[in-house]
Amino acid sequence: MPEALQEGQGPDGLRVVVDRDACIGAASCAGIAPSVFRLDGRSRVVLTDPTTVDAATLWRAAQSCPTDAIILEDERGEQLYP
Ligand code: SF4
Repeated sequence: MPEALQEGQGPDGLRVVVDRDACIGAASCAGIAPSVFRLDGRSRVVLTDPTTVDAATLWRAAQSCPTDAIILEDERGEQLYP
């Protein structure tokens, strides 16, 4: 996996991948799920613990990202979003 990608296991078999290269620091994800997404010192998203929220919150956070930098996959690695 390229260094810009961070991946974590969320609830209900949902996998969360963030593409730090695509992130523009809009912070809407961190506003919706601050226990899952935070920004580093260069205003790039950092994935922390996707198990701390429910799947609906992860979907809302992913859909809030203006650059589609948050990718959701099922347990088989099939891309669900975007
Ligand atoms: S919403 Fe998207 S662009 Fe904004 S901080 Fe989160 S990942 Fe980055």
